[in-house]
Amino acid sequence: MLRASFLYLSASFDHLGENVTEEKAARAATEDYLAAFERIAGERLNANVSVKLTQLGLDISPDLCRELLTRIVQRAQQLDNFVRIDMEGSAYTQRTLDLVLEVHQTYPNCGVVLQSYLYRTMDDIARVNAARVRVRLVKGAYDEPAAVAFPKKADVDANFAAAMEQLLAKGTYPAIATHDERLIEATRRFAREREIAPDRYEFQMLYGIRRDLQDRLLREGYRVRVYVPYGTEWYPYLMRRLAERPANLLFLVRSVIRERRAA
Ligand SMILES: Cc1cc2nc3c(=O)[nH]c(=O)nc-3n(C[C@H](O)[C@H](O)[C@H](O)COP(=O)(O)OP(=O)(O)OC[C@H]3O[C@@H](n4cnc5c(N)ncnc54)[C@H](O)[C@@H]3O)c2cc1C
Repeated sequence: MLRASFLYLSASFDHLGENVTEEKAARAATEDYLAAFERIAGERLNANVSVKLTQLGLDISPDLCRELLTRIVQRAQQLDNFVRIDMEGSAYTQRTLDLVLEVHQTYPNCGVVLQSYLYRTMDDIARVNAARVRVRLVKGAYDEPAAVAFPKKADVDANFAAAMEQLLAKGTYPAIATHDERLIEATRRFAREREIAPDRYEFQMLYGIRRDLQDRLLREGYRVRVYVPYGTEWYPYLMRRLAERPANLLFLVRSVIRERRAA
């Protein structure tokens, strides 16, 4: 399904895990990502990986995190692939940006995520655009205080639209990651008006969410990448998805019951 062709979805694989407290776990996560890149190359998938710096030991030691991220990005470069560094809570924003910008100087095949709920994001966009770092734009999934993030959804959405325009006009192959149809339409409209071709950016969505919209965009000639989490450390990821849409709890309960009946 994910074979190399823009008629198909591409993917970004996220080996679930974050905030590791032991070096051994950070090194094990690194090995998992290296294995993922080998498998992607072996199966000739149109896919990259997404990593979280706290999974690579950012809470333990910045040097350890730099070493592990560099190993992953270096191997990805040898295989002509790309590493996306997810953005976590605001306590990590500056450190994540600094490290990605540093590693990017040697390995341009890595990119970052910026969150439109943060006040600082437009400034960060100017900085990463100047360095030609690829950005995935999202609204933001962490519970942030009003001191750093817009409390109102309307402001988060307006900032997303403004950030999207800056990224499309001045960025490097941005990824517009949302299921919000109005913002997707705004992206398409802006690109049309500025004559930005559909192969100069991509849409991204979470695996299994709004498949109808994913299919429609593909059929209309847009690039769509799905974010595919895998592994056993699912709890924090699931909690963030439930917080975004409490109705997902119902889907979860239904599928657990279905699984149990089938077992
Ligand atoms: C590819 C990708 C990567 C991401 N990476 C990061 C990251 O690195 N850091 C980070 O902080 N956040 C990340 N996120 C999450 C993001 O910040 C948002 O929390 C999430 O995308 C929901 O916001 P939305 O843009 O879809 O808009 P919303 O306004 O939340 O939703 C718009 C519509 O989409 C649908 N929808 C949204 N979420 C769900 C859901 N969970 N289940 C079912 N329907 C839903 C609903 O119909 C909703 O009305 C990522 C999101 C995507 C798509």
